[in-house]
Parts: sequence; C-alpha cells; structure tokens
Amino acid sequence: MADSTEGAGRAGVVGLGTMGAGIAEVLARGGWSVTGVEEQPEALARAEGRIQTSTAYAESRGKLAEGEGAVVRQRISYRTGIDALAGCELVVEAVPELPELKRSVFARLDAVLGPDAVLATNTSSLSVTALAASTSDPSRVVGVHFFNPAPVQPLVEVISTVLTSTGTLERVREILAGLGKTTIACADRAGFVVNGLLIGYLNAAATWYERGYGTRAEIDAALVGAGMPMGPLALLDLVGLDVTVNVLQRMYGQFGERRFLPAPLLSSLVEAGLLGRKTGRGFYTYDGSTTTDAPGVVPPPAASRAAELPEALLVPYLNDALTMVGVRYASPATVDTGMSLGCRMPRPFDQLAALGPVRALAVQQQVFAETAEPGYRPARLLEQLAAAADPDLALHALRAAHL
Ligand code: NAD
Repeated sequence: MADSTEGAGRAGVVGLGTMGAGIAEVLARGGWSVTGVEEQPEALARAEGRIQTSTAYAESRGKLAEGEGAVVRQRISYRTGIDALAGCELVVEAVPELPELKRSVFARLDAVLGPDAVLATNTSSLSVTALAASTSDPSRVVGVHFFNPAPVQPLVEVISTVLTSTGTLERVREILAGLGKTTIACADRAGFVVNGLLIGYLNAAATWYERGYGTRAEIDAALVGAGMPMGPLALLDLVGLDVTVNVLQRMYGQFGERRFLPAPLLSSLVEAGLLGRKTGRGFYTYDGSTTTDAPGVVPPPAASRAAELPEALLVPYLNDALTMVGVRYASPATVDTGMSLGCRMPRPFDQLAALGPVRALAVQQQVFAETAEPGYRPARLLEQLAAAADPDLALHALRAAHL
C-alpha cells in the first residue's frame, strides 16, 4: 500500500492534538506528504510521539504491514510556522474550538496558500460559513469533520457552506475516498448530521439522570439493552462533556429550542473541570481499566421512571432523524450511515422500523404533552407515516425513495 499511494500530493495540518495528529497520520497513510504545524516545539514532539504510538499499534494489529509505520512516519514533517505550508494542495485546521484562534489561523492560511489550495476545518461546533467568509476566497473552504480516533473511524462529514464551490467539494470528497473514508454530505447546520442527532439525545439522558428518574446504571443499561453499543452517560464521558456543551450551545443558538440548553449538571461538571474520560472523571470515574460511579454527582432520587426507558430517550432521537429528512437536510440513508459509522450505533431507520411508526408517534406525543416543549412536537413525517394505511410499508417506501 505504501508504494502504490506514494506521490498523492502535499497536505498540511494545523494543530497536532488529538484530532490533528490522527488526521496527519491518515493523510500520510494515504501517500500524502504531510507538514504538521504547531506553535511550540514541545507540542510537535508530543505529536510525533503520538503518531509513533498510533502507527506502531496499527502495525501490531495488522492494520499496517510490518515496516509500513516507518514509511508513513517519514512522510510527515513537523514545523512551528504556518509559512511552511506554502505550496500545499490541502490544509486541515484542527486547533482548539476557539473562534478567534481559528479565524487568525485561517487568515494566515489565506495569505500563505496558493489560489488552488483547499482549506478545511475540523470544527465540531463553530460555523464553517463564518470561517469561510473571513477569507479572501470562501469558495475553497469546507468542513471535514473527522471522528476520534481519525485513523480508525471510517466516517467523515463533509460540510459545504453556501459559498463552497462544487469543484472544492468534489475534490475533497475524492481525496477522502482515496484515504479510504466514507463521507456524508452536510450543509453547515449546528451539529451537522451526527452530532445534530446524538447530542440532543445525550442531553436528554443527562436531564433524566439529573432529575433522579433513574440511576446511572439503570439509564445506561436500558439503552444498551435496546441495542446501543454503550449507555448515554458513559458515551457523554467518552465524547467529552465540554465538546457536548459547545455543540449544545450552538444548537440552542441556531434552533432556539430549550431542550438544547445544556442540562445544568453538564454545565456544572464542565465548570468543575470534570470533562469525562479525558480528565479521568465525569459521570463516572476512570482509573486505568476500572470504571466506577463518580462521587458528588448523585441527584436526589425521584420516583424511578426507568421502566419508561429506553423509549423515552430513543423516540425523540428518531423523531429528530425524521425532522432532518422532512426538511431535506439529510436522507434516511445519510442518517443511517452517519450514526452507524460515526457512532457505531444501530441505524436509526432500522430502529424506527423495529418500533413501528404508530408506537413511535404515541411515545413522541406523550413526551411532547409532558414537556410542552415545541422541539418535541412529533415530526410531520412521523405523523404522516403513522397515518398511512400501512405505516410499516410507508416507512419502507420512504427509505427506498431516497436511495
Ligand atoms: P486538542 O486540544 O487535542 O488539539 C489542538 C492542538 O492545536 C494542540 O496540540 C495545540 O497545541 C494546537 N494549537 C493551538 N493553537 C495553535 C496555533 N495557533 N497553531 C498551531 N497549533 C495550535 O484538540 P482536538 O480535540 O484535537 O480538537 C481540535 C479540533 O477538532 C476542534 O475544532 C474540535 O472541535 C474538533 N474535533 C474534536 C474531536 C474530538 O473528539 N476531540 C472530534 C471531532 C472534531
């Protein structure tokens, strides 16, 4: 593989932290000559160590042939200035999620890169459009939302803005396909497809926990029992509570729905610096391979509503998927690909088929009645499916129509 992909071109990555180091590795594994940029030499050394560990692990697991890790590593050079990226065809920005910082990095890239270069951001929660609009040529700016760890996760969301050119989009999708990634196309909307569905569901789970409707174990076990690969509170710790709160804030800003206000407990944990696995503590405490309930985040018990789980958490998430399809933001296939490849979760439209539109509508109506929250109003498409002569067949037809 190393030889056949040699000579793909020159790419740059700005910010070689968790995501940037992974993206640099992905590009190098695809044959690209990669220049990684950090501000401080110590950060470059950390990134080099990270890529060394990751490629060695890939070799030990047979994901890279023996000796290929060294070939991949040789394709990556490490620099402290953005000027070193002159001549790159593609640059991916992966600095922390701070609007001012990203804008200043984009301004430098805009000045340094040639007119044909593609400028991509890995942002999870900022407006790609606003970043694009701050450059001299927004038509070449695109979002590429990789998942963590980038060398392992197969999915990338490709975000186009109202200013992105078709040529840029085609080029990026072609490059990502060459790297072995599956892409889904998203317009620039808060959360894109995957987080747009996932994060509301996670916030609802945190809210249930905070209200004392179930213990951590009950909530997580109920959703695992319903086919989710992990419970929502454990998943929150994995995603990072700060990342979740950032995405929620953008979703709330864009959609104005109260259910996207971060659960107060989530905000408190973030303020306390308890961000989940990466800090060793969130909803759970992580000590090596041992996971235990974290102290200090136990809400006062209320009458348990664990029996209503998992439908009370799953159905609003499926309702959101139908809303996305109804407003033509995503097709059922896009949603299914996003959630199954991005989060290893069951395909939402399979879950909806298993439950049936009639049952889903009944649950959603109940949630809406209880919360009086407009965001929980049953999706028009859900009402239409449930009202069809044969709801299951109507759902099947909806999925087939978008293939
Ligand atoms: P991180 O903090 O691990 O890495 C950021 C890196 O950028 C650090 O190494 C830092 O030293 C470097 N940096 C800071 N300022 C810089 C500058 N001026 N020039 C060059 N380098 C600079 O963050 P991360 O988790 O890798 O996130 C990076 C981006 O990816 C964010 O936009 C985040 O929202 C997004 N993202 C993160 C994840 C995830 O799971 N961590 C997933 C998808 C997308």
